[in-house]
Amino acid sequence: MTEKLFENDSMLKTCTAMVVSCLPKDDKYLVVLNRTVIFPEGGGQLSDTGMIDDAKVSYAAEVNGEVIHYTNKSFIAGSQVTVTLDWNVRLDHMQQHCGEHILSYAFWKECGANNIGFHMNNDVVTIDLDKELTEKDMLKAENFANAEIWADKPVHINYLQDTELTKLNMRKKNEKLHGLLRIVSIPEGDICTCCGTHPTSTGMIGMIKILRFEKHKSGVRVEFNCGLRALRDMQIRNSTLVATGNLLSVKVEEVPLAVAKLKEEVLDLVSKVKARTMELFTAKVPQLLQEAETAAKGCKILCIAESCDAKEAKALMQLLTAQPQVIIALVYQSGNRVNYQFGLGEGAQGNCKDYCVAANKIFGGKGGGNATFAQGGAPYSEDWQAKKDKLKALMLG
Ligand SMILES: [Zn+2]
Repeated sequence: MTEKLFENDSMLKTCTAMVVSCLPKDDKYLVVLNRTVIFPEGGGQLSDTGMIDDAKVSYAAEVNGEVIHYTNKSFIAGSQVTVTLDWNVRLDHMQQHCGEHILSYAFWKECGANNIGFHMNNDVVTIDLDKELTEKDMLKAENFANAEIWADKPVHINYLQDTELTKLNMRKKNEKLHGLLRIVSIPEGDICTCCGTHPTSTGMIGMIKILRFEKHKSGVRVEFNCGLRALRDMQIRNSTLVATGNLLSVKVEEVPLAVAKLKEEVLDLVSKVKARTMELFTAKVPQLLQEAETAAKGCKILCIAESCDAKEAKALMQLLTAQPQVIIALVYQSGNRVNYQFGLGEGAQGNCKDYCVAANKIFGGKGGGNATFAQGGAPYSEDWQAKKDKLKALMLG
């Protein structure tokens, strides 16, 4: 059994220890010590990182009461070593983990919602609650939880027999736990069984900020951050908001209204441009038909090049396929692509699939379809207009 010094002193950053065993595994070594300050992953809390002498400990796990340290160097059993904790990682984990205790307590006490799931990784912390909640509930729980932090209450660690738990007003009772249990309690606040590391007082958590929440199963999933993570998040969000306000020449609190107005203007412009484009295309059709060359079978071959988007191309194609006895090849440049579409006007004889195969070869692209309609595309190339002329010559036979 490894003596887990973090269980009674979460502030201890270093200790001396003796190597019990060291086994190679893949590109790592699994090191067991007689005691350690490094917390192994467990109970929803992530593993600490740190050093054993000058070897990096990237991960630790607990197996049958022993803490297995994953290192990049080997050790000789029986040797004396110094174990050092990566304190910034530990503090971050304690802030998120203990913050989760307090926020879960706040939802339980203020909103009658129970925590039924918890997830923490290096970016995000989430809790799942068994009840649907509102924006107002989020604010209420967040304010309550932060008040618990500012009260800077001590976080107590005690050990009690499972039979004694009934005396406590706990939000979460785990019936499966038996024997001597580790109880983490905050005076007039949260009480729960937990094996993790906790700050000595709630003030060390700094702050709790709910980032968003969404419906999850029959309740909600709440995403939040604590401590330094919360501060960093707010710094990024604030600078983003200030920069957006500057771009729109409005105050931060006026950004949503300004963006909504801008969106309305853009949508209005898009519909105006669309209408004008259709007018332009309609006006262009007679001239395009006049310029079209007649192929051997008597159909007119209309091979045109445009710079437009897919929606405009579709609209133009619809206008042209309404014309009689015409075979249409529409080549259009859109962004960094050159696309091509083939269609047949009323009564026209031709095979669009064959034209598309030819275009695939000329443009070095991909595409297909059937006899009456086919389309494809290729990466943009500067000579796309010349390729269009080559395609036209081929279609004219
Ligand atoms: Zn805990």
